[in-house]
Amino acid sequence: MNRPILASIHTQAFQHNLNRVRELAPESKIWSVIKARAYGHTFDAVLKGLESTDGFALLDIQDAVCLREHGWQGRILLLEGLFHENEIDLAQELHCDLVVHCETQIEWLERYADKVHKPISVFLKMNTGMNRLGLKPEAYRTAFHRLHSAGYRLHHMTHFANADQMDRKPTVDAQQELFNQTIEGLDGPTSLANSAAILWHRNALGDWVRPGIMLYGASPTGLYADIEHAHLQAVMQLHSEIIDIQELQAGDRIGYGGRYEAPEPMRVGIVACGYADGYPRHAKDGTPVWVGDSDKVGSGIICPLVGRVSMDMLTVDLRNAPHAKIGSVVELWGDKVPVDQVAQMSNTIGYELLCAVAPRVPVKII
Ligand SMILES: *Cc1c(COP(=O)(O)O)cnc(C)c1O
Repeated sequence: MNRPILASIHTQAFQHNLNRVRELAPESKIWSVIKARAYGHTFDAVLKGLESTDGFALLDIQDAVCLREHGWQGRILLLEGLFHENEIDLAQELHCDLVVHCETQIEWLERYADKVHKPISVFLKMNTGMNRLGLKPEAYRTAFHRLHSAGYRLHHMTHFANADQMDRKPTVDAQQELFNQTIEGLDGPTSLANSAAILWHRNALGDWVRPGIMLYGASPTGLYADIEHAHLQAVMQLHSEIIDIQELQAGDRIGYGGRYEAPEPMRVGIVACGYADGYPRHAKDGTPVWVGDSDKVGSGIICPLVGRVSMDMLTVDLRNAPHAKIGSVVELWGDKVPVDQVAQMSNTIGYELLCAVAPRVPVKII
């Protein structure tokens, strides 16, 4: 038997969430964003669960190689384009679409123009206020015409800085307006929306939407309450088991630093999951952990985390779970404990926890 920890990836939940994107953006094509090993969910899983997407968007050309090796024949978008000029041959061979966000990349493509044997699709990225990647609006039209006359197939793209903040609608509108003004009269499909815009700014979708986090069933804001009614399903379930139980007396303390002190006699479950698995070390006392009722399959109860998370273990207050015993199943996050609730209790967002699931955690695709 292996150590009892597992990340189960539910491909049906992927299909469900992709359908939700289609319902919310029925006129748009979908780039399913799978950077960071599909937000920690693995490429094998997305190829199974998201195979009906219109394309996959990712960062590293080696990941594009990997998708092609897995048999993916649909479109692939390199979200930050080429990092080096010498990647361009491979990008063409793999039939990748390229984001172009700066003058240097434009020069590379111009130099390469006579070696292009099948038109390459370019998503020309405009910086409309995020101030990360993208060409300034004043430089955009010239860039467009240069790439257009070099034979590339142009699309227009921008990225919102505040689509996840519902009280910042004016800045989303301002970015969108600047984008629309700048591309006026230029041909080509558009791409604007990340998950937050798909959920909350549906006037700003464009021809290609770019959902990431919502496909994985977590919240763009990091707050579960914000997606509670969006009908998304958690795709990853991180689970483990209770491997020991300690009986504490009032005043006993648990774990490193003795952060938690038992107020009364109580049972504490020791769970085989720690920060070396990707569970956040900063999780506060009270972070929800679901503990299965060993007498009834599928039923269980939320118990609070108590004491500091250590490398390989964490500890839970079992006062709510009188039937819990060694071998009881525990869900750290998934459909019973939203990953965003765990994230919130450690001052981060679900994205970070999902991406940080450690390589030592076995993955099972269901
Ligand atoms: C990561 C990323 C997305 C997806 O963002 P989510 O918030 O996960 O939906 C979309 N567009 C670009 C350019 C990205 O880098």
